[in-house]
Amino acid sequence: MGTKKTTKEHCSFCGRSEDEVQILINGNADARICDNCVNQADKMVREVMGIPQANGPAPRSNTFNKIELKTPVQITAFLDQYVIGQETAKRSLAVAVYNHYKRILAKNNGDDTEIEKSNMILVGETGTGKTLLARTIAKTLNVPFCIADATVLTEAGYVGEDVETILTRLLQAADYNVEAAQHGIVFIDEIDKIARKSDNPSITRDVSGEGVQQGLLKLLEGSVVGVPPQGGRKHPEQKLVQVDTRNILFICGGAFEGIDRIISNRLDKQKLGFKTASQKSSINYDNLLQYVTSTDLRQFGLIPELIGRLPVISFLDPLTRDVLKQILTEPKNALVKQYIRLFELDNVKLSFEDDALEFIVEKAVEFKLGARGLRGICERIMTDAMYEIPGSKGTKNLHITADYARAKFEAKAR
Ligand code: ADP
Repeated sequence: MGTKKTTKEHCSFCGRSEDEVQILINGNADARICDNCVNQADKMVREVMGIPQANGPAPRSNTFNKIELKTPVQITAFLDQYVIGQETAKRSLAVAVYNHYKRILAKNNGDDTEIEKSNMILVGETGTGKTLLARTIAKTLNVPFCIADATVLTEAGYVGEDVETILTRLLQAADYNVEAAQHGIVFIDEIDKIARKSDNPSITRDVSGEGVQQGLLKLLEGSVVGVPPQGGRKHPEQKLVQVDTRNILFICGGAFEGIDRIISNRLDKQKLGFKTASQKSSINYDNLLQYVTSTDLRQFGLIPELIGRLPVISFLDPLTRDVLKQILTEPKNALVKQYIRLFELDNVKLSFEDDALEFIVEKAVEFKLGARGLRGICERIMTDAMYEIPGSKGTKNLHITADYARAKFEAKAR
């Protein structure tokens, strides 16, 4: 495009030459597509997939102007609608996010006081709501959000994804609006899996996590990074999009399996220094993650430079039976509410006996998958009804009793 060539390039779809179109995008081999055909294709895809048609071109404006800066109290109130419990994590997250965006706004308004950004690390068992918290917070602020999995990242030169591909996802979430992406939130999941291997039995990968941690530093601290727009490995001919990470908020999450032992060892040593029995007994050994510090993370295998760039550390509580039951029924998009709605669409009034909910919770506790286990258990119980009821005449009420739940669950287990 743009440079003089002896033979003109054409759109492989409509045949128009490069002079007749505004943009001609090169694909693999000899294929090209022009802006007209991209728009046509977009319309068709939306029609087929039932996505509302776009009205005119995608906004290229500075999306950051649209960020609604909410106070920490407003942020936690929003989180409360979707996330049960986890009060401490909600508070630290709300404050970190509020400070982060306040800092950007102050800078945009000419304030030159250097306030450091507050990337964050969330430590909590699997399925306790780390990703849900990060996702929900991005929703309240209306900023681009993406989830990256630290386990697929590798040190430059190894097979796997370069750390920069994390930002590819953010660019995609921002519809390739670089300005918007530069104010987005990135959730890096399973950060514990790139811990240094020493002293850490849960790590089985060969490629040292330390190299990946080093790679992440430059993203976290804030620098201009060349990002491959389509992801994959970087290669010399590829055009890179320059993304400034200074105002991107990084939230890292991990289960840090085994860190409770590190914490309790540390606390036990400290306890020797305590004078009174009440100080000694005030430690809650059922929820040790609440005492997590940067020293513990370091001992677990995160390098000090990385910890230094994640100044806010918070934890998630393990989910008790009561909380699991609440998760099943209370959030805006609670599973039970979803099933009720689904059946309602078939004119069936669905209800659950309290003991049936207790049964589901009991199984979730057994599976040790946190709230993540709930869905699978519900599906096992509900599949037959979801199969049989649509189209069948007569059934207008379906009451799920504990016996029904147990029977369906056990039948599927066989
Ligand atoms: P993780 O801590 O492993 O990132 P997720 O946030 O992905 O866990 O949680 C998995 C699923 O479990 C979520 O999609 C959500 O439905 C449910 N869930 C987990 N914790 C909570 C919670 N505290 N409140 C409401 N739902 C939750």
